[in-house]
Amino acid sequence: MYKVFDVLEIRKDFPILNQTIHGKPLVYFDNAATTQKPQSVIQAISEYYQEFNANIHRGIHTLAEKATAEYEGTREMVRKFINASSTDEIIFTRGTTESINLVAATFGRQQVKAGDEVIITTMEHHSNIVPWQMLCEEKGATLKVIPINDAGEIILEEYEKLLSERTKLVAAVYVSNSLGTINPVKEIIDRAHAFGARVLIDGAQASAHLDINVQELNCDFYAFSSHKLYGPTGIGVLYGKRELLDSMPPYQGGGEMIKEVSFEKTTYNELPYKFEAGTPNIADTVAFKKALEYVNEISKPVAAEYEHELLTYATESLQEINGLRIVGTAKEKISIVSFVVEGVHHQDIGIILDTQGIAVRTGHHCTQPLMQRFGIPGTTRASFAMYNTKEEIDKLVKGLHRVVKMFR
Ligand SMILES: *Cc1c(COP(=O)(O)O)cnc(C)c1O
Repeated sequence: MYKVFDVLEIRKDFPILNQTIHGKPLVYFDNAATTQKPQSVIQAISEYYQEFNANIHRGIHTLAEKATAEYEGTREMVRKFINASSTDEIIFTRGTTESINLVAATFGRQQVKAGDEVIITTMEHHSNIVPWQMLCEEKGATLKVIPINDAGEIILEEYEKLLSERTKLVAAVYVSNSLGTINPVKEIIDRAHAFGARVLIDGAQASAHLDINVQELNCDFYAFSSHKLYGPTGIGVLYGKRELLDSMPPYQGGGEMIKEVSFEKTTYNELPYKFEAGTPNIADTVAFKKALEYVNEISKPVAAEYEHELLTYATESLQEINGLRIVGTAKEKISIVSFVVEGVHHQDIGIILDTQGIAVRTGHHCTQPLMQRFGIPGTTRASFAMYNTKEEIDKLVKGLHRVVKMFR
């Protein structure tokens, strides 16, 4: 449909963008927190409830069959989207956070023992720190952290030094939500495998911007959320290699995840249902497929190229602002610009920009240890999606000039 990338056409697909905030046209630069949804996704949710709402699987009536087919259709779409070899390897969760917790509670509990080590990076989101801390505390294992340089890039030589036979798992973010850094995950994975360690990749930010191929990456687990990928909230994915998922104990117990239950013993369902207890989020899962179709139709590489143009433009224009310093200057970045302005608290920047209709995120972005690494309490973060424009970046720059004037 979109042979040429036409941002004004794309904007028409996102009804929420067409509004004013405090009398100014909305400029939505908080895409790393969650992206807006195209009309097709919004419509799919109400269509589900209006036309084929029914509980999935076990039903033999027509609506249940239709709901099941749509729900499983999303699973196949996700499989293709990340190039997994089988839909058995695609587990639906509530999001990245739940996907990581699932691995910690099953694989982690089973495999990590006292004296073992789990390695993460300095730039992890809290959801890829805390589950491992909890696990290590429970097991008497140790959490190790890969350091980064001042540009916000992982220091691979330091990573190598942390790896040993004690390493059971490496959990690393593909793309930093605070800095935009794209990590060399292939190298991270290969080096971990050389020590027999498994690798989980947090793909929450990467999945909307980069082409994901889990077989080529050869990661053991890959976690991401629909809502950062133009899809609904409340639905996410855990990819896992089949032999690993097979050998892992179940996560939650209940309906759907069982084969047979008696008071003496329960046998578990096969993959992927073993990890999906209870009635899932059917409506949002069905609508998630529309989001993936949307991204495929536009073509991720085409959108990514445009987003990179926005990144370059924003990086250049923001540097003109007196006292502004960009935090995260990695060579490989997606379209995220985090910055601090001398003498102005990020919260004040956020409030003043909001009066201009500009939505940015301020604070630690769920990466407090990363902020500590840079010696700052937080940043202002502008994160761009395929529907943003250079004109909007101009408005941000103008707004920031105003902020600086107010505080100096
Ligand atoms: C958003 C995000 C998460 C958490 O995702 P949820 O959808 O909130 O579960 C984890 N890691 C990164 C890098 C993120 O950007």
